[in-house]
Amino acid sequence: MTFKELNLIQPLLGPLDKMGYTKPTPIQEQSIPHLLGGRDIFGCAQTGTGKTAAFALPILQMLDAAKIGPRSGIKALILAPTRELAIQIHENIVLYSENMNISSTVIFGGINQHSQVQSLKKGVNILIATPGRLLDLMQQGFIKLNMVTHFVLDEADRMLDMGFIHDIKKIIPKLPEQKQTIFFSATVAPDIKKLADTLLKKPVSVEVTPVASPSELVDQSVYFVDKNHKRTLLKHLIKENNIQQALVFTRTKHGADKVAKELSKSGISAEAIHGNKSQNARERALAGFKNHEIRVLVATDIASRGIDVDKLGYVFNFELPEVAETYVHRIGRTGRAGSEGVAFSFCDKEELPYFKGITKLMKRDIRKVEHPFNN
Ligand code: AMP
Repeated sequence: MTFKELNLIQPLLGPLDKMGYTKPTPIQEQSIPHLLGGRDIFGCAQTGTGKTAAFALPILQMLDAAKIGPRSGIKALILAPTRELAIQIHENIVLYSENMNISSTVIFGGINQHSQVQSLKKGVNILIATPGRLLDLMQQGFIKLNMVTHFVLDEADRMLDMGFIHDIKKIIPKLPEQKQTIFFSATVAPDIKKLADTLLKKPVSVEVTPVASPSELVDQSVYFVDKNHKRTLLKHLIKENNIQQALVFTRTKHGADKVAKELSKSGISAEAIHGNKSQNARERALAGFKNHEIRVLVATDIASRGIDVDKLGYVFNFELPEVAETYVHRIGRTGRAGSEGVAFSFCDKEELPYFKGITKLMKRDIRKVEHPFNN
């Protein structure tokens, strides 16, 4: 299957070729025809599957066909749970739409609203937003959603986890009844299903890499290790494998800081990103990581959402997540869109129940590796 066979138009094919997308990913193959046909979609897919292009390409194509202009108003609204993800979706849309006369902008909280309001005033066709800032600017009268024809709720499960449901419930009534709705979630818990049912009209369900069987491309191993030896083991594995770029997950912000500090001390450049850091500091760390100035990024789960680094080779679960699905999200950061990845997990005694939950969800064993760092 090629993008051309999916009936995408020439102005989109050029940029895709330039970006090195040779063929559609499964979620793109499944979603694009339905979306071009005007259907609503309930998509179960995690980051790394190519879901952004799966919704962005058909929306761009439909807006291009509608011959919209700078004064047509906001035609597409894309809601994302984190600023990182919102920025990344926007960056992708800018790249995909370089041959089109369609304007897009991104708004998110944590920074002064002035520049965002200025770009809204210029006229925006595609708005990518985090819920809080969107609502805020709507209430101030800077944003009208009455022209929206395409509405995307991305990472709906994270939205609910992060407590955005109230904001979302206030935003939805401001959208026209008649529109195409696209709903993406990595997991399908009952509350997700309920929200989807209220939003979608006769949706087509598409699903890739179901949560219980994450990418077979990720090589997963586990090290049973005492809590106080984890940092030594981490440094050892980074050095032994000559790892130049890795994402390390901790459960807490404080833990992230401690790990980053210790790595830096031993000559492995590292930064922590989490909710206590300023927007600037987070963006700086992410940029440094992307351009290989920083070898290791230490992140909490929420901060890690939306980190999009092509061909991220290594993920460390320095601490195991309490919720098994989070493990799947984490290792989904590696081995993305066809490239291979490695996930190392550290498990101490207290984390054994979490580990059991993970293997149960995955329906498979994770390779156990012996090491010399216990006592
Ligand atoms: P996403 O799941 O949307 O976050 O996409 C994950 C990564 O895959 C991003 O870096 C995309 O640029 C990339 N990507 C998306 N679609 C394709 C494709 N068809 N071929 C190669 N890479 C892709």
